[in-house]
Amino acid sequence: MNDHAAVPPAGGPLSLYIHEAAKRRLDLYSAECPLEISGVGEVWLVPGASGNPIVISQVFLLEQVSSHAHTELTAGGLASLLGERAAAGLPSESIRLWWHSHAAMPAFWSATDEAAISSFNYVGWLVSIVTNRRGEILARLDIFPSTSQPLRRTFAAALIELPHSDEEERAEVRAEIQRKVRRARVPRTPEVRVAVTAASARRNWRRSA
Ligand SMILES: [Zn+2]
Repeated sequence: MNDHAAVPPAGGPLSLYIHEAAKRRLDLYSAECPLEISGVGEVWLVPGASGNPIVISQVFLLEQVSSHAHTELTAGGLASLLGERAAAGLPSESIRLWWHSHAAMPAFWSATDEAAISSFNYVGWLVSIVTNRRGEILARLDIFPSTSQPLRRTFAAALIELPHSDEEERAEVRAEIQRKVRRARVPRTPEVRVAVTAASARRNWRRSA
C-alpha cells in the first residue's frame, strides 16, 4: 500500500459498485453474527471509465475480538490475509475496503469509526462501509492527505450492486488458472518420463566420463 497507487479523482460523480456475491457475503456476515463484526475487502478503480467507478469485488472476514458494541481487527489477521494474497501474486494495494456491522444498533459513523478510518491513512484512500443486522448500510470514500492534497476529503456514496456476470466469472477463473496452474515440462506418461530420465542419465554419465 503506497502513495503511488492511483487515487480516485475527487469531485465529479462518484460511482461505488459492489459485486452481487460480495454484497451477499457482507449481508450474511452481518446477519449471522450477534456481535459487531468487521473485515476488509478488495477494491479496484476502473481507470478512464466515465463516472470514476470504484468496484468492490470481494469482502474478507479477519480474526478479531468482538463485543456487542465494539470490534477490533487483530494485526495477525490482516497480515495473514496480505501474506496469502502476496503468495498468489495479488497486490496488497487492492485491499482498500474496511467494513463493519453495528449488529442491532443503527448504521452510522461513530467517533470510534472515524478514528478507525483515520488509522488507515497509510493506504492513501479507503472505502468504508457500515451496516447492521437489519440491512441498513452507509458507504463512503476517504482520500487521505498527501503532498499534493493536504486536507482529508470524505465523500458519501451510494452502493450500487453489480449483477453477477458469467463473462466476468469466466475471466476471473482464467486469471486464477493462469496464476496457479503451470504446464509440466515433461510429458505425463510414465514410459516417456523414464525414457527422458534415462537419456539425461546417459548425458550426465558421458559428461562425467
Ligand atoms: Zn461503527
